[in-house]
Amino acid sequence: METVADYFGSMVFNDETMRERLPKDVYKALKKTIAEGKDLDLNVANSVANAMKNWAVEKGATHFTHWFQPLTGMTAEKHDAFISPMDGGKVILEFSGKELIKGEPDASSFPSGGLRATFEARGYTAWDPTSYAFIKEDTLCIPTAYCSYSGEVLDKKTPLLRSMEAISDEAVKILSLFGKNDVKRVITTVGAEQEYFLIDEEDYRKRKDLRLTGRTLFGARSPKGQEKDDHYFGALRTRVAEYMADLDTELWKLGIPAKTSHNEVAPCQHELAPVFSVANVAVDHNQITMELMKKVASRHGFACLLHEKPFEGVNGSGKHNNWSISTDSGINLLEPGDNPKDNAQFLLFLVAVIKAVDEYQDLLRISVASAGNDHRLGANEAPPAIVSMFLGDELTEILEAISSGKRIDGKKKGRMTLGVHVLPDIPKDTTDRNRTSPMAFTGNKFEFRMPGSSFSMAGPNVALNTSVASALKSFYEELKDAPDFDKAVTELVGRTYLEHKRIVFNGNAYAPEWREEAEERGLLNLQSSPEAFDQYCAPKNIKLFGDFGIYTEKEIVSRCEIHHEEYSKTVHIEALTTLDMAVKRIIPAASRYASDLASGINSIRSAISMVGPSADEDILRKVVSLTNELYGATNVLSEVLGEADKLSGSLQSHYYREEVIPRMDDIRRFADNLELIVAKDYWPFPTYSDMLYYV
Ligand code: ADP
Ligand code: MG
Repeated sequence: METVADYFGSMVFNDETMRERLPKDVYKALKKTIAEGKDLDLNVANSVANAMKNWAVEKGATHFTHWFQPLTGMTAEKHDAFISPMDGGKVILEFSGKELIKGEPDASSFPSGGLRATFEARGYTAWDPTSYAFIKEDTLCIPTAYCSYSGEVLDKKTPLLRSMEAISDEAVKILSLFGKNDVKRVITTVGAEQEYFLIDEEDYRKRKDLRLTGRTLFGARSPKGQEKDDHYFGALRTRVAEYMADLDTELWKLGIPAKTSHNEVAPCQHELAPVFSVANVAVDHNQITMELMKKVASRHGFACLLHEKPFEGVNGSGKHNNWSISTDSGINLLEPGDNPKDNAQFLLFLVAVIKAVDEYQDLLRISVASAGNDHRLGANEAPPAIVSMFLGDELTEILEAISSGKRIDGKKKGRMTLGVHVLPDIPKDTTDRNRTSPMAFTGNKFEFRMPGSSFSMAGPNVALNTSVASALKSFYEELKDAPDFDKAVTELVGRTYLEHKRIVFNGNAYAPEWREEAEERGLLNLQSSPEAFDQYCAPKNIKLFGDFGIYTEKEIVSRCEIHHEEYSKTVHIEALTTLDMAVKRIIPAASRYASDLASGINSIRSAISMVGPSADEDILRKVVSLTNELYGATNVLSEVLGEADKLSGSLQSHYYREEVIPRMDDIRRFADNLELIVAKDYWPFPTYSDMLYYV
């Protein structure tokens, strides 16, 4: 019988397949390119392309595509067939090195923030050989980066690769100071835990809001809250379990190491976590995972919802970005060591992350900002909009002790006793888990919990890698000529902690008191996405990205514009959908009900004599009054939408946030109250109870 081990990665042109199918010298040249990030020789590329095509065709592929990640956060593909017509009505299958290395998608409709004039609508894609090609639905997919002809970055992958280089370069330098000259590269590792909802596809189809915006714009809370319905749970579980098994199989074929699947807190909510891998591969894998989650769902009669907040009053979905750095030989640099020297190194990397997160709170916050995630961050089930870090009591104590050595500077003896040789052993397992922290140290990695479930993981990792690279760079400058290295490290660890300890918070980050305390500490609290985006072009951010060659100033400005625009567009679509559903579905349904009630009342009155108003009359009054209010609210929303149209950029996104969303909320309130009194068979779409508590 075929086991998982047999088919794992069977649809991936991975290292094993390459070694099998490529001539030895070609394989070697390719490996070298991958290891050193050099350009690929065209002869090598031709040979690789041919082997790749033969392999793909044997697996049933008919097409190939450059698979890339434009700024929409989705992945993009343009399929080309391998066929090349020949004389006599025959075809041969061709795929050249040129086609492998470079593509020219006509991609004028992808956002570029004005970087690409429309007369020059084409961008080009370039193969990222560090992420394996794979076959998805009869198409050979080649992971690529996407740029404009003038070299501006138009995707999410390029900056990620650059940021991985940046942190690697800086970490290697630091390691050399510790005498680890054999380390040539440092690798960013990422494991993305993915939350999602599964509901009946039939219900999904009946809800225009879910189809067009990914979330419900209407829906009174179900009488049942988040408690699980044990009665239905068993039945539901089989179907979900079948889905999960099917999904795992599909992921495994693509070499995606899906490891754990389980139910989440909210009804119909689940989570999938892969085994971590190199950051760019993990990001690619997560994109494929999200795509497959949706596709496989459909086979099982489900719709998979990846929106951050599909249902009001029910927990939303996030994505936990587990992040660490390790040497090329796999030694985790955020893992406490076995001896004082290694612990000093560990602490240095640890405080580099603390410094980075404190100095670039804004960048981390921006990297997780979106209209969808605004419903989550700051609500009481998700991390707040304030970035802070959890270290655990023991690690905090150690850093406090080291930094208080600094405080008694002058009394030389005091400082000496805190030299490397007396560094305490650091507990290997910080079992003290804090589930409320936006950025928690979990023993040998950080878990960044702010990203939304639908996010590409590229952005958050670019922010993390680059800011940590910057901290490491400043450390290197300070340490490289230190006369007493050990002493200098201890001193630097203590001082850095002291300067940035305001970002460390081990308490309950969901508690309202934390907001006040964070404000006293001077931490940023960027409540909404438009507010966050406004910080993007701050001089310190432009300098950071410029220093490490991640983005030019022009690119940051354009990205900032794209963010504001994307936000406005999202809310715009939600507002139009709100109007559409209110005017075309809810008001007509309520009116029909009202009119039936009215005629019913008349016929009852003619049949029996009654004293005083009947229940029906009372309901009728309420229905009519709420319907009128609802209608009034739709007119107000139409008006503010007209105003929003006149604006652009940051002004527009703020207007959507501050004027449009509250008007949508008004409409929803009236509509949800109507839902509670209109008879079930009149209501035009499935309710929360229908969707979340199906059998
Ligand atoms: P949890 O309790 O949050 O489920 P786990 O230890 O199971 O924690 O890990 C969650 C995720 O973190 C998994 O995807 C796992 O592969 C990933 N992970 C573990 N170690 C690392 C690391 N060194 N770098 C990045 N991700 C990691
Ligand atoms: Mg986790």
